[in-house]
Amino acid sequence: MTDLAYLSCSIGKKDALWEAMTIKPLIILPDPVLRQVSKPVEQVDSEITRLADDMLETMYDAPGIGLAAIQIGVPRRLLVIDVSKEDEENKPMVFINPEIVGASDERSTYEEGCLSIPDYYAEVERPAMVAVSYVDREGKQQTIQADGLLATCLQHEIDHLNGVLFIDHISRLKREMVIKKFTKAARSRAV
Ligand SMILES: [Zn+2]
Repeated sequence: MTDLAYLSCSIGKKDALWEAMTIKPLIILPDPVLRQVSKPVEQVDSEITRLADDMLETMYDAPGIGLAAIQIGVPRRLLVIDVSKEDEENKPMVFINPEIVGASDERSTYEEGCLSIPDYYAEVERPAMVAVSYVDREGKQQTIQADGLLATCLQHEIDHLNGVLFIDHISRLKREMVIKKFTKAARSRAV
């Protein structure tokens, strides 16, 4: 299912309609691009807001609840999140140069997935609450106190900006199995 979506997205790139929709192809494990450390955004200009819009469209299309710029191949410290429930209105959030400035001792466990590691899920334990400083879409410095799914999602996405994937938080044996599976799949796609 996800492989098909990925394929149709790649083919769709040649189609003018798809270009207008600005849905970007996702970078998939084991692409080494995912291990790059992203650079800070120096100025929130039209290029950055356009990038954020493209990322939101790509995320909603996937569909996913979070996306870091590096997942569409742009090594900048920018991420988008929408953790609204299915029956609620969309609540797109844009975080530029996000940084964790506080974390609770209390921890929580969520089953995580990643648009760059399609159809693989594993439980990850992280701090239950985090404080994150960031620059918003309007270029203003902000701080957010997050808990629940948003706290986990922020930590997962900020990890991406440092070249870290959620599979780095699971056992080595499980991680090696996932990487092996995706390396095989990438090889068969290349044939
Ligand atoms: Zn991810």
